[in-house]
Parts: sequence; C-alpha cells; structure tokens
Amino acid sequence: MGWRAFRLLASQIAVAMAVWAIWVYFLHPEASPAQQAIVALAAACLGGWIWWLVDSFNAARLLRWLRQPELGAAPDLAGVWGEAGVRMRRWIRHGEQQVHQGEQRLNDILSALQASPNGVVFLDEQGRIEWCNQISSKQFGFDAQRDVLQNIGNLVRDPQFNAYFAAHDFTHDLVMHGRESTPSRPVRLSVQIYGYGEGRKLLLSRDVTALEQAEAMRRDFVANVSHEIRTPLTVLAGFVETLQNLPLEEEERSRYLALMAQQAERMRHLVEDLLTLSRLEGGPPPSNSDWVSVADLLVRCENEARGLSNTLTRKQARPHVLNFPDAAQLKQLGEVAGASAELHSAISNLLSNAMRYTPAGGKIDVNWQVLGDGTARFAVKDSGPGIDAKHVSRLTERFYRVDRSRSRDTGGTGLGLAIVKHVLQRHGAKLTIESEVGKGSEFSVTFPATRVRVSADAAAPSLARLAQRRCVY
Ligand code: ADP
Repeated sequence: MGWRAFRLLASQIAVAMAVWAIWVYFLHPEASPAQQAIVALAAACLGGWIWWLVDSFNAARLLRWLRQPELGAAPDLAGVWGEAGVRMRRWIRHGEQQVHQGEQRLNDILSALQASPNGVVFLDEQGRIEWCNQISSKQFGFDAQRDVLQNIGNLVRDPQFNAYFAAHDFTHDLVMHGRESTPSRPVRLSVQIYGYGEGRKLLLSRDVTALEQAEAMRRDFVANVSHEIRTPLTVLAGFVETLQNLPLEEEERSRYLALMAQQAERMRHLVEDLLTLSRLEGGPPPSNSDWVSVADLLVRCENEARGLSNTLTRKQARPHVLNFPDAAQLKQLGEVAGASAELHSAISNLLSNAMRYTPAGGKIDVNWQVLGDGTARFAVKDSGPGIDAKHVSRLTERFYRVDRSRSRDTGGTGLGLAIVKHVLQRHGAKLTIESEVGKGSEFSVTFPATRVRVSADAAAPSLARLAQRRCVY
C-alpha cells in the first residue's frame, strides 16, 4: 500500500510541477503567488485523477482476464496489479496441477478396477449405475457407456437379484445365474453389495461356476467313495455276525472266510486306487529326462496280463488270446520319458480292462508304434463287448461304469480309467477310445515326440486307421 500511495503522490507532484512550470514560465509569468498555488493544487488533483484512471484500467484488465484465466493470455501489468496477476497465475497453475494429479489418480484407480477379475459396479443413492468395469458388463450384460445412470433393477432382470436388492440386507452374498448361463453350460455368480458414503453402494460380482462345480464334484466323490466302501463293509459285517452266531460246518466256514477275504481285497483295491489318484494329483510332474525302456515295460505288463488272464478264465477251458510284440520287435521300441511306476500303472490298467471285459477265448492285441512325426502310439485292442457311443466320453470320470456288476465281479473299482487319464495328462499324452458295440474296443495312447526316443533303425510306419466310434481325451 505504501508503494501505491507513493506512486499516487509522485504523479500528483509531477503533474502539479509540470503544469505550474508551463503556467508560470510560458502562459502567465505575471501571476501572483496565490494564483500559482491554486494552479499547482488543481494540477495535483488532475495528477491524482490521471493516476486513478490508469490504475482502474489496469484493474479492469486483470479482472477481465480472471473471468476466463488462461495462463498464456495473462496481462503484463506493473505495480500492485502486476504483482496480483503473478500471484494469481501461480495459484491457477498450482490448482491445475492438483486437478491433473487428482485425475491421474482417479484414472489409475479405475484402471486397477478394470483389471480386476471380479465385476465392480458403483451405484448412487437411487441404485443407478455410476460406473462399472468390463467384467461386470460381461457378467450382467451392461453397456458401460449407455447404461450409466440407469437403475440396476431395470437392467438385471433376475427375480432373485431384485429381491436381494430390495431387501437391503447386504450382510450376505447372493449366488445367482449369470447372464450367459444355459442349462448345458451353467454360469453361477456370487454377488455382494456393500454400502458406503451417504446411501451409495458398491456391487462386487464373482464367477463361482468352477468353485461350485468343484464343490459338487467333491460331494459326489465323497458320496461315491462312501458307497463303494459301505457295500463290502456291509457284506463283511454280515459274515462276521453269521460266524459269531451260527455253529457252521468247517467247509461252510472256510467258504465264508474266502468271501470275506474277497470283500477285504476289494476294499484294499479301492483304497490303493484312491491313494494312487491323490498321489497323481498332488505329486510333482514326471521328469522328462528319466528314460524308461518300452520293452521292459511291455514285458512286465505281459507277465502280469497272462497271470490275470489265468485267474479270470480259470474256470473256463479257453483262455484269452494275447498278442504282444515279439522279442525282435521289442528290441526296436526304444524308450519313453516319464515316471516308470505311473506309465506301468496306466498300461496295466488298460490291459486289465481289456481282459476283464473280454470274455474267455477273446483276442487282445497289444501294439507300440513309433510314428513318422516322432510320436509313439500304444494300443490295446480287444474283441470284447464294445461300448455304446453314449458312454465313451464319460468313461474316464471317477466311478463311471457301463456295466456295474461286471466291473465289481471282476474286481473293478471304477477308478482305472481316471488313473489312466491323469497319468497321460501328466506325460502330455492323449488317450483315444474307439469302440463299437459287439465288435470290441481299442484304447490307444499317443505320446508326444519330446518324450519318445528310439534307435535309428526302428521303422516309422504311419498311423493306420481311425475307427467310427472315437473319443480323444
Ligand atoms: P472299472 O474298475 O470299473 O473297470 P474303469 O475306470 O477302468 O473302471 O473303466 C470304466 C468303465 O469303462 C468300466 O466299468 C467298463 O464299463 C468300461 N470299460 C473299460 N474298458 C473296457 C473295455 N476294454 N471293454 C468294455 N468296457 C470297458
């Protein structure tokens, strides 16, 4: 303010002196001192007015700029208005920086919410959509731009959701069908709403289809295992009770004990298969540098197969006709990379199935071929009853059986092909089932070239034929 007063005074003095000098020296040299004083006083007033006009003009320029302040268009002023302009420019620049940073932060938060694997929707006090991410748009069928400020109740036309939203009890989540859900491909969503601010809501949605399926599978599995164990246990308990309460002949007693041993053996098989499955699920992946001799594997499986065939066809005159590669062929089969015990378990399961389901006298061909592309194909072909196409895609499910009683009678657990599928998946191999009712089945396994090693002279015939009923896992 001092500087302003000084400038006012200076302009008054300057104008007063200039006018007084012109008056006295050029216009009225004869003027009396009183007249000179009045002229000087009037000139000083004039100086004050001139200063006021210039000052007001500068203030008006600053105010005009402030109406739409653009940093580049700021007036270049001196004095107090110039200083005010500089300070305002500084304030505006600071404000702009803060707005920019705020926008940047908001964009970062929205980008993070877009990247979320779950649906996120912001709702206002009336339940209208303020913002939603892409996942929620897909899950509920929103249009992220068009549906802004639309009421969510009008967009999600699910009675369960509308009841949940209307009840205003958001202490628990709601599991509902997703928009893309169909009877053959159900999609389940878990939706939960959280209140915040003054009546606003945050809606989070999560696809729980896989979780629900896994839970259903777990329940089925526990129910199946319990059922499989309960049956032999009931039989065993019955025999124990009979042995305890009835005076039996020695012959009858040993017959009962043999039947009890059979049931106990059945339970042991089941537990062994369950343990194998759990080891396969939790174990480290098989090595791809441990090479297993295919010849050794097949010779071992052949010995076991012949033993099993004898047991199965003991009471009948005609055993199975088993065709395995001969000694000369075995020499050329090379090696396969993986876990020897797992590969043995898969191959022997396929062989045991072929023999258990093929009646006495039936033919079983076992083959191992290294193909032109470096892959290897192992196949077990039987002349058994064959499998109806409707069952083929489900055979590797746990406890799935086409003929339940035949499976049980021959000591099956219903887990053999599930074990085979797991082992093959772990080795990057594929199981193919070709079967026709009345004509037999062929279960073949294709190992990837990276897991097959063969001597240079081994022939590489091409893959022969693909039968009508075929299912690849
Ligand atoms: P299981 O212990 O009952 O044999 P698997 O998982 O090994 O269980 O096989 C599942 C079902 O597939 C069997 O119950 C049987 O109905 C059918 N199956 C498997 N292999 C053959 C085959 N070679 N011929 C006919 N049916 C078969």
